[in-house]
Formats: sequence, structure tokens, C-alpha cells
Amino acid sequence: MSAEAAPFVRFQHVSKSYDNSGAAAVRDLDLDVARGEFLTLLGPSGSGKTTTLMMLAGFERPSSGAILVEDVDISRTPAHKRGLGMVFQNYALFPHMTVAQNLAFPLQVRRMGRAEIDRRVKRALEMVRLEGLERRRPGQLSGGQQQRVAVARALVFEPKAVLMDEPLGALDKSLREQLQYEIKRIHRELGVTIIYVTHDQSEALTMSDRIAVFNKGRVEQCGAPGALYDRPANLFVAGFVGENNFLDADTTGTAGETVTAQSAAGAMAATNAGAGKGRCVIAIRPERVVVRPPASESATRLAATVAERYFAGDHVRLVVRLASGETVAVKTSRIEAQNLPEPGAAVTIGWRAADAFAFAPEDLAAEAAAPSKELLPA
Ligand code: ADP
Repeated sequence: MSAEAAPFVRFQHVSKSYDNSGAAAVRDLDLDVARGEFLTLLGPSGSGKTTTLMMLAGFERPSSGAILVEDVDISRTPAHKRGLGMVFQNYALFPHMTVAQNLAFPLQVRRMGRAEIDRRVKRALEMVRLEGLERRRPGQLSGGQQQRVAVARALVFEPKAVLMDEPLGALDKSLREQLQYEIKRIHRELGVTIIYVTHDQSEALTMSDRIAVFNKGRVEQCGAPGALYDRPANLFVAGFVGENNFLDADTTGTAGETVTAQSAAGAMAATNAGAGKGRCVIAIRPERVVVRPPASESATRLAATVAERYFAGDHVRLVVRLASGETVAVKTSRIEAQNLPEPGAAVTIGWRAADAFAFAPEDLAAEAAAPSKELLPA
């Protein structure tokens, strides 16, 4: 493989156990990151995201496997020699230093000249739009401003990559969204590689070039946000990325890509995503459910009763109950919502086979059983 073709960062069969008794925090991880990419590690709490990031940063050592940066195994390189910037959830700014001193610190450590330090600090402040605040101390800044300083400090020494672990986790919703766009802008302007950890799937969808979905120390699927959303590889990804309704059914036939299935709610059709003979699980996103579908458009038509209706500003949300007793969430635009039925009314819902997916039920069953076992006292 030529040097150009080698990925910027490569995890090769990396596993990590913190002790001999416990389950591995990360299991046989293979993951490549391209230069300039914004890659997000997404998953529930405890799925191994931070452990993965800390091994790349050099704060944890893999139990087995190798981590390569630019084709060089850095598994044994000390953290401060890896040339990586870090941003954590809780700022980690030096409280006794001014903003400018905080930014200058990583440059002084690298024995950079005064003029170059001043130039870089100024540019970093412009980048995060904090000009004029250089003499303040962290305690005199808002949470959002402090986190901007933390981002600037991670960028100021022009690192090979910046690793961010839930950097917006402590901020309220609107500030978090604002900083998501700011970090994306900085990523675009600098072209720096960013590896970002979050448990927030909407943050991951908004920010990433690619997302690696973690579950119990393994990557379930890795791909572009649109690919994960439109074509989840399994039930875990279908349930964790975006919202989905899951309906139990029995496969009655397959024709090309399409699976037909029968349940107490009626006959359904969906795109095959691993369903076999016997039981299957149909996944359908709330925004893909059509209320009162025209006969020609929906392969699936089910009788339902409206149970709940919520006004959510930009859309209306219905919860309908099927003959099987299962409920289905429906998200519909306000325009369509103008003549939606009231709670209690009978209504037909449906969807196109291309908009729903039929999965094998096994992995969902395993998913549901595993966490409760871990919660049992030893
Ligand atoms: P995430 O970042 O996805 O929440 P982590 O990587 O922090 O997950 O944790 C993965 C697993 O490793 C969890 O079961 C967690 O309890 C365990 N773990 C993390 N850090 C340590 C540690 N320092 N010592 C022992 N176990 C740890």
C-alpha cells in the first residue's frame, strides 16, 4: 500500500480489558480514519467510545492489537508525543491563567518564539470568535465561551488531529446546537481531522462525515450519516440512530428485495434487511408512516385508532394503536396535519415497502436480554 493510500489513523484488532475478570471494554476493533475526516464514535453509555479515544490519545494502552498513525505504530508512544489535541466535557482550562495564557501554554511547552505564539493565539481567538476576551480568566466566561477556549487551545499548536470527548455535554440545548455548527465550520475551514465522541445520535448525524456506532465494545456499523439512517445494518443501529417503530410479524414470503409478513395488525411489506423464515421485526420510521395512504402508493395498509396527538411546532406527532395492540408513532408535517383525525378516531395508516425494513428478530432479543443480566448483583 502506498503512503498516500494508507489511512491517517488505523485501529487494528484493538481490544481493551481493564481487569482480568470483567468483560472487554473494546473488542477486536478495526477502524480507519481518513485525513481531514470528521469521524464520530456514537453509542450508549459504557459501549467503549471513551476507551477507544483514550487509547488513541495515549492515556490507556490496548490489551492487544495496534494503533497506527500515518502507518506508524504509536501504541507505545507517550501521550504528549502523539501530537494530538484534546477537548473534554469539563473544559480543563487553567483557572488562574487568562484566556490568552491558556492558549499560549501548549505553545510555550513546545518552546515556540514569542512572536509566533502571539500570532497563533490571535488566530485561534478569531477562529472561535472570542476576540477581545483574551484577558479574562475562565471563571469570568460563560460555559459556552469556556468551551470555545478549550477548542481553541486544542487547535492552537496545529495538531495532527483533535480528539473530542462529549465536548458539548455540559451545555444547554441551544448553546450545544450553536457550538455544533461552530465546530463544523472550524473543521471545514482548517481541514483538521476530528475524532468525536458522543452518545447523542442527533449531534452525530449533524456533525459527522462518518459515524461508527458502538455497542458493547464493538462497532455495529460505520458509515455516512445518511447511509446509517436510511440503511441501518441491524436492529441495534435502527433503534439507536434516529427513531423507529418496531413491529413483530411472521414472514410469509420474499420477492426480490421485498419481504411480506403477517401479524395480528394485518399484512405488511418491507425491504429485506436480514429477515428469514419465521418471525421477523419490521422497522418503520415515524416520518415514513402515511396517514390515510392513497391505495396506489402503499403496499402496507393497516387499520388503527388514534391514541394521542401532539403539536410539536414544526410537525405534529400521532400515536396510533393497531389491532395487535402495538402502538406506532407517526410524524407528519403541519400542512398534512390540518385534517388529521382526533384521538379516538379510526384511521388507516400505511407505508411503501421501500421505506420499511424487515430484520431477523434474534439480535433484538439478545439486545433486550443482555443488559438486564449485567444489572444482576454478582
Ligand atoms: P463509553 O465512553 O461508551 O461510555 P467507556 O469506554 O467509558 O464507554 O467504558 C466501556 C466499559 O469499560 C464500561 O463497562 C466501563 O465501565 C469500563 N471502564 C471504563 N473505564 C474504566 C476504568 N478506568 N476501569 C475499569 N473499567 C472501566
